[in-house]
Amino acid sequence: TEELLRQSEKLMVVGQLAAGVAHEIRNPLTALRGFVQLLFREEDYRGVMLSELDRIEWICREFLLLAKPQPVQFVDKNPVDILEDVRMLLQSQALLNRVVIITEIDEPLPTITCEANLLKQAFTNLLKNGMEAMPEGGTLYVRLTSEPDGIRLTVTDEGDGIPREDLPRLGEPFFTTKEEGTGLGLMITRQIIHHHKGTLSFSSEIGKGTSVTLRLPVKPDTDEQE
Ligand code: ADP
Ligand code: MG
Repeated sequence: TEELLRQSEKLMVVGQLAAGVAHEIRNPLTALRGFVQLLFREEDYRGVMLSELDRIEWICREFLLLAKPQPVQFVDKNPVDILEDVRMLLQSQALLNRVVIITEIDEPLPTITCEANLLKQAFTNLLKNGMEAMPEGGTLYVRLTSEPDGIRLTVTDEGDGIPREDLPRLGEPFFTTKEEGTGLGLMITRQIIHHHKGTLSFSSEIGKGTSVTLRLPVKPDTDEQE
């Protein structure tokens, strides 16, 4: 039954998404079509074409990741390893954007039962959002700490903060305030956290920055094996 529920939940989200995805893909496609037409007038719009193509690709990839049924395999992992992987992955982007990532790890940390690749994706999304909140660069503080029966990841940026009226919309499919955003990151992150029986909360101050807190239990209480 757990599996059936999961499937129907997924199908519902996928259905909702399909309409949105079609809509989202149309914009870059329309732009590309225009530039292809212009190309025949020997102008150079390759840069724009490539970035629009990247956008389509990125939307499809995030969407497919969600829609494709993936074998979920929970294993015991040290959360520090996950964070280190994510930090490494984002290091070049941080350098390019003049963002310094400072991590603080409060050892000892318990190992957690998780689907490591999904968690990596969730961590990545949160760190990326923090980085993208500081287009002029800045410091991204990432703290990993233990809690009774769980762990807590806090990502704090020095960006512009999130307007109060946007807070309820975080995680809504395609809600984005970014020119190049997909508005899928937080929705996927929320789903992943939900599967781990964790929680996500935001605290934000306009002009000062945002702090995102992710809490995960040591063992997601799955009575039935998923
Ligand atoms: P995307 O990053 O593609 O816009 P997300 O789902 O990751 O999509 O985020 C949705 C929106 O939430 C962002 O466009 C932004 O407005 C807001 N947001 C998320 N994290 C932050 C943050 N750390 N600082 C400011 N705004 C944020
Ligand atoms: Mg994002």
